[in-house]
Amino acid sequence: MNLFYELSEDDRILAVCDGWDDFGRANNASKLGADVIGYPIWQFISGQDTRSYMNSIFFSCRSYARPLTALYRGDSPEMMRVYRMTVAPLPDLGLRLTHHLTAEMPHWHDPPVRRIPRALVQCSQCLSLQTPQAWAPGPGPAFRAKGEISYHVCPDCRQSLSRQIERTALSEVAASRPKGGGVLTA
Ligand SMILES: [Zn+2]
Repeated sequence: MNLFYELSEDDRILAVCDGWDDFGRANNASKLGADVIGYPIWQFISGQDTRSYMNSIFFSCRSYARPLTALYRGDSPEMMRVYRMTVAPLPDLGLRLTHHLTAEMPHWHDPPVRRIPRALVQCSQCLSLQTPQAWAPGPGPAFRAKGEISYHVCPDCRQSLSRQIERTALSEVAASRPKGGGVLTA
């Protein structure tokens, strides 16, 4: 199933797809279409780090007029879920964000939050947890009160996005290079 919504040039949510509210109700979402349309998307993204990550995607997509994709975990209390987000350019610098569920399976563990120290830094994209040594793959989401989790974007997720943006930029350079010129091979 694909869910999508569209943003204006100034990142306001202009429209959501049919089925958005049905999906939201089935997954205990706190925001339905009427609660988000007309508002800046930034109101619904937690943490400066995640907003910066998303802004990089939006900026690249608008600058090069090419779509970008990123995988992220969007678990429910019962299910682990992996989504693919595609951000595609629309006319007038608008964007369409499509979220496609690519994999899901039940959590196989006890709720992990009991084993995790109180102060929690978690990657908003892959749900890795920051430990004193490194970022460790998260066993699952931390279903806690919002104030107890600080959401960041881990280095792996940032690198993955950076590489994709670089490839987009390089292909743009290649496309704009005059045919037959520029590179001497002999
Ligand atoms: Zn991550």
